[in-house]
Amino acid sequence: MDYFDLQVNGYGGIDFNTDGLSADDLGRACGKLQADAVAGVLATVITEKVDLMVARLARLVELREQDPLARKIIAGIHIEGPFISAKNGYRGAHPLDAVMDASRETAKLLLDACGGLLKVMTLAPERDAGGAVTKLLTDAGVTVSAGHTDATLDELKRACDAGLKMFTHVGNACPMTGMHRHDNIIQRALFLRDRLWLCFIADGVHVPPVALGNYLRLAGDRALIVTDAIAPAGLGPGRYKLGRWDLLIGEDMVARAPDGSHFVGAAITMKQSHANLRDKLGLSDARCRQLLVDNPRRAIQV
Ligand SMILES: [Zn+2]
Repeated sequence: MDYFDLQVNGYGGIDFNTDGLSADDLGRACGKLQADAVAGVLATVITEKVDLMVARLARLVELREQDPLARKIIAGIHIEGPFISAKNGYRGAHPLDAVMDASRETAKLLLDACGGLLKVMTLAPERDAGGAVTKLLTDAGVTVSAGHTDATLDELKRACDAGLKMFTHVGNACPMTGMHRHDNIIQRALFLRDRLWLCFIADGVHVPPVALGNYLRLAGDRALIVTDAIAPAGLGPGRYKLGRWDLLIGEDMVARAPDGSHFVGAAITMKQSHANLRDKLGLSDARCRQLLVDNPRRAIQV
């Protein structure tokens, strides 16, 4: 299957969120993605100090331009942050000292650094007062996605009115325990399924199979699967150093902080996600194709 993955932070040992990305690195990551049946990805750059994000984005765009395989595989860029919740549990592994309120100036800097390749921006609607940044990005053709957020239903609805179209890795980037059992961000995201594409991680751990099965049934035609892969994806279990993080990749291919306290990403491939959907949830080939190939493209209109 010619998979299309909207959230790839790195692959085959190569981290896209690094200051020293080389042409060789990018070529190797794209070669490995292609070998693993991935037709296209959005290279994902996450929260850091804005000047570092801008430099990383510009480098990624420049290296992609020089490499025909990278131009083929990297269909665009997904920026996750820095306009996300500072609250523990919602912030996930994003650095507290770099998250911020949305501003048009910063959004323009990030947008410009992508040279027309920005396809998805994940932000927390409660940090985008009045929806100004959501509107600016939507007008520029970017799919704005809610994520790492504890927005109220009203805030989410207002964001939809400003152009919000997607929700990033539903069921994650929220506290593992201690949320209200009914009034919580997962319920709000599912409630808005007629207005939003809902993205899920299908490693069987970020969202356990029973919950994933329920969510996918409810989300219906608006669901899609991402890997949220980080550099060790396509390699194997072990200890890795990645940017500011030390990681432990378990046999389940989930990346955790070394003390096991929280997830910091997934290390599965689209192929492994496909196997989980087929074998653990019993989904048909047609449904798998919709989730792994067609809907990701439809959500960003490529
Ligand atoms: Zn995330």
